[in-house]
Amino acid sequence: MKKAVCILVTVILCLSMICCAAAENSSEEIDYTTGTPWVDIDLIGNVTADTPADPKDNFALWANKDRILSLKIPEGYLTAGDTVDLSEQADADTMAMFHGKVPENHDARLAYDYYYLLTDWATRDAIGVAPLKEMADVVEEIKSLDDLTEYLVHTPGEDRLFCFWRSEDRQDPENPGNSILSLRNSVFFIKDHAEYREMTAEGKYQKEVFASFFQKMLAKLGYSEEEARQKFDNCFAWETMMNSVDPAEGDSSSSEFTNDIDHIRTRNELMAISPNVPLLEALEKADGYPEMEKYFIQDPSFFERLNELYTEENLPLMRDFIILHGILDTAYVLDWESYVLLEECLAAIDHDDDAPALDKASYSETKAYDDVNIFLGWPVARLYVENYTDPRDKERISKLVDEIIHAYYGIIDKADFISEETRAGAYAKLDHLSKNVLYPDSWEPYSFEDVDFASKEEGGSLWEAFRAINKHEHKMAVSKAAGPYDRTVWSGFPFTPNCGYDPSVNGIFIYAAFARGNNYDPGMSDEELYAKVGAGIAHEISHAFDIEGSKYDKDGNINNWWTEEDRAAFLKKNEKLVAYYNAMHPWEGQDFDGENMKGEASADMAALKCILLIAAEKENFDYDAFFRAYADRYACLDTIEAAMIRLMDMHPMNYLRVNATLQQYDDFLNFYGITEGDNMYLAPEDRVAIW
Ligand SMILES: [Zn+2]
Repeated sequence: MKKAVCILVTVILCLSMICCAAAENSSEEIDYTTGTPWVDIDLIGNVTADTPADPKDNFALWANKDRILSLKIPEGYLTAGDTVDLSEQADADTMAMFHGKVPENHDARLAYDYYYLLTDWATRDAIGVAPLKEMADVVEEIKSLDDLTEYLVHTPGEDRLFCFWRSEDRQDPENPGNSILSLRNSVFFIKDHAEYREMTAEGKYQKEVFASFFQKMLAKLGYSEEEARQKFDNCFAWETMMNSVDPAEGDSSSSEFTNDIDHIRTRNELMAISPNVPLLEALEKADGYPEMEKYFIQDPSFFERLNELYTEENLPLMRDFIILHGILDTAYVLDWESYVLLEECLAAIDHDDDAPALDKASYSETKAYDDVNIFLGWPVARLYVENYTDPRDKERISKLVDEIIHAYYGIIDKADFISEETRAGAYAKLDHLSKNVLYPDSWEPYSFEDVDFASKEEGGSLWEAFRAINKHEHKMAVSKAAGPYDRTVWSGFPFTPNCGYDPSVNGIFIYAAFARGNNYDPGMSDEELYAKVGAGIAHEISHAFDIEGSKYDKDGNINNWWTEEDRAAFLKKNEKLVAYYNAMHPWEGQDFDGENMKGEASADMAALKCILLIAAEKENFDYDAFFRAYADRYACLDTIEAAMIRLMDMHPMNYLRVNATLQQYDDFLNFYGITEGDNMYLAPEDRVAIW
């Protein structure tokens, strides 16, 4: 992918994305035109006009030959095919919608207006760093610990430049239907906190990059070189003290960790951990959170340390910590110079040597689209949906989802390796599967209705818009923290050109931008619809029953619903599938990692089985059109770098996603008259589809 899209949380996405990252190149002696049982036909140069194509020998080649020969790898990519086209389409759609008619919908209009404020460099440069300086000056006025306490307790959350902790809602591990307020340490400069205890060359490098950034930003705010140096040293000293010991519990987001009830503290316990720091008063008076009975404390030792270090002596360090992090948080909504300094700093931290040089003249046609998403992902989604979706498509695809789920009941029903007990658990997952098609059914949870800011024409500024959005975010955070936990909330945006299954909510997400381009058009035949969107949906649902997804129950909790015996049989089937892929080679001397691919490969197989069950019920179903459309979805052209990246991907290579999947089923083999002795043939006892 060329452009980064902001994805919020954990959905396992379906399409593999080949980036422009360089991969290890192999030695020149390799003969890429060899392979077992098929040559890697996706690799550039392996298919020519003279290459013979026979459906019984290599179906993917036979079905896709013409398209492979016509594919051209676009500039900036390592591969060509539907995935790239979809990503390019999403980019083109995004650009067009900010230049189309002014939207009527309130939230869509916010995104639209924000884009023009973002790209209004004349106003941004005229305002410069003045609003940030004003906020920093308030912090400079903090002369005692009492002043600091006053600042934390009485400055409304959205008006504080920065804080020592972060608060967010999360699922209550003791009562999964409810939310609980989670408190955790604030962000530090260096992500790997161990660097603060024993600094490596990487830590030193990052420290220098940040020091240089702040030297320049603080100069813009009017500080002398010496003052700037001192402020950075103070801030860094504070971060080092705060990270002086290993966290008692890792700052991990692993599922085991997030389900840990040991992190829950009552109100009194929290007060006892941190009596010096006005944590609860700040949460309630400044942020507006209600008094709660209990809290989730990500790393209790963090608050103990904060309590110890919250002293008069450390005041200058804490003050500078707030100011410097405030700068880091706001530089990108200030003037051009601040924006560039921040972008260059972050690219240097990521060792992103390929980051394109920033150019003010082309900003509005390049980076601005991504920058709108940073704060206004949902309003952008609204704008996207207003422009590119039709409720009739949502209805058609939703019906398709229901049809596919119905077929899955049949698959589970006939699975002969599971007992009734396990079967009941699998049914329950289907019963509770949340279906998220194109865009949310209700926009209410994503609404920015209360946000208002003046547009460019009305004389507004990006800074004012930024502040208005901040206020909204705070309000939303407070309203979500107490009350029911909504696990149906979308964790990705509809303009994401992909689809996915999220085991932690037991839900599938078919984003609107996935149903574009070659994947979907309202005029396509049922056969094409089943082969493209249908197989995609069925693939995602099957992740509920793959090796990872099967660890989660109907509610998205890690919870075993398998009998010991059934689980053993399931693992054995997975092993057979791994061995099947391990026996293949894209070219001689190159192995596949079947272990890595088993989840995605089994999802492809279950998906195809599901669609074939549906097809069997249809009159005059055009199997040839269906199988060709199925193959077409995976037609691609890879450079050797892309092929090397695919070898590490969890998805099998595209030609295998066609051939290895199709050869599992008699419906396919019989239709094309494929029998023993044909390369596409797989004997029933050698088949590896798990479901
Ligand atoms: Zn998948």
